[in-house]
Amino acid sequence: MLFPPVCHSLVLKVASKCNLNCTYCYMYNVGDTSYMSQPDVMDNETVLDICEAVRLHCRKHKLRYFDFIFHGGEPLLAGKDFYRNFVDCAKASIPARTRLSFSMQTNGVLLDEDWCQLLSALHISIGISLDGDKPTNDMNRKDRGNHGTYDRTIKGLNIAIAHPYLYPHLGILSVVNVFSDAATVYNSFKSLGVQHFNLLLPYGTLNSPPPGIYPHLKKPETVYADWLIEIFDCWFDDSHRPEIRLFTSIIELLLGINNEFEYFGKSKIEYLVIEADGSIEPTGALKVCGNKFTKLGLNIRTHDLDEALREPLIRLYHLSHFILPAKCTICPIRDICGGGHLPTRFSRKNAFNNPSVYCLDYMKLITHIQQKLWQVLPEDVTAKLLKVTYREMLAFHNEYAQLRKIYGH
Ligand code: SF4
Repeated sequence: MLFPPVCHSLVLKVASKCNLNCTYCYMYNVGDTSYMSQPDVMDNETVLDICEAVRLHCRKHKLRYFDFIFHGGEPLLAGKDFYRNFVDCAKASIPARTRLSFSMQTNGVLLDEDWCQLLSALHISIGISLDGDKPTNDMNRKDRGNHGTYDRTIKGLNIAIAHPYLYPHLGILSVVNVFSDAATVYNSFKSLGVQHFNLLLPYGTLNSPPPGIYPHLKKPETVYADWLIEIFDCWFDDSHRPEIRLFTSIIELLLGINNEFEYFGKSKIEYLVIEADGSIEPTGALKVCGNKFTKLGLNIRTHDLDEALREPLIRLYHLSHFILPAKCTICPIRDICGGGHLPTRFSRKNAFNNPSVYCLDYMKLITHIQQKLWQVLPEDVTAKLLKVTYREMLAFHNEYAQLRKIYGH
């Protein structure tokens, strides 16, 4: 079989509630109601079942590494004993020949000295969600009383920065806000003293587009590409730039280096999500496609990881950079873009058989980064690289639209 199903990481929704209420959150604010029937915190029986399933999976596939990613809701709401117990259980169950790693994505508001000491002791690295400067962050990242959370997140972040184990791995995950000033956001990143960032495009579909995208306009705009290009240029021209994973991944792909970036490229995706009640699901981002869309009737109590990996929606997500809509299969930048992130291809009419709602933005951003590389790399290197301009990509886009009008889908 091409790409035999195997899983190297689990995203564990250890707490299904959150202390914040961010406007774009796919758990609570895109119409999916499945969180309401979840237990607040994953129980010990589910933890034991997860560790046993991972033990069997690692043994069967002779895996040399396996990653546990604690997520929520807000994962700190699971409490300290949950993490002591989980790490002990995983280490006791899974043979030492499989290297285990543990990480967490938190909003940082509850991070204090005790938490940072515990996370360091358990070797759980952390990523913190923060959208840039205070006004930008507080537009969307609000608490349940509708108050901005920037100051509290920064307080938690600064405590984490002071911890020698946490600091080198510490990353900031930011959702792009096109109603903010890109240069201000970049400068705010720089002021944090953190070395690793990633930028995430808001989740959306053709039926529920991300903020600022109006796909049915005669002349659609590329607000995401324009914003990202502005921040890319600040970053590219900065001699002391931190890592921004979105940009380094696109550059690697343009240079012909494959990587495991989930949103672009031509890699297989190799993780599963386990909800607090043990349900096994593909990425939570697919919740934007409809209520209970990710509910597949699979549970870690009754199904092993191999069974889950064969489930069609999970398989489609994992191979989403290979199973492409017609337009993407002939797209000149297909190997870089990979059709983008699967949820953003969805429409109620054609399911996933559409180019991404971000298609034009991807074209503009990728060709811009390519042009910038040409300016700095020697000719013998650029001669081997993809060479296509945004103008040529637009010509491809328009020609494809015309052919579709004549010959149908
Ligand atoms: S740029 Fe558009 S057409 Fe090309 S691969 Fe990406 S989504 Fe598909």
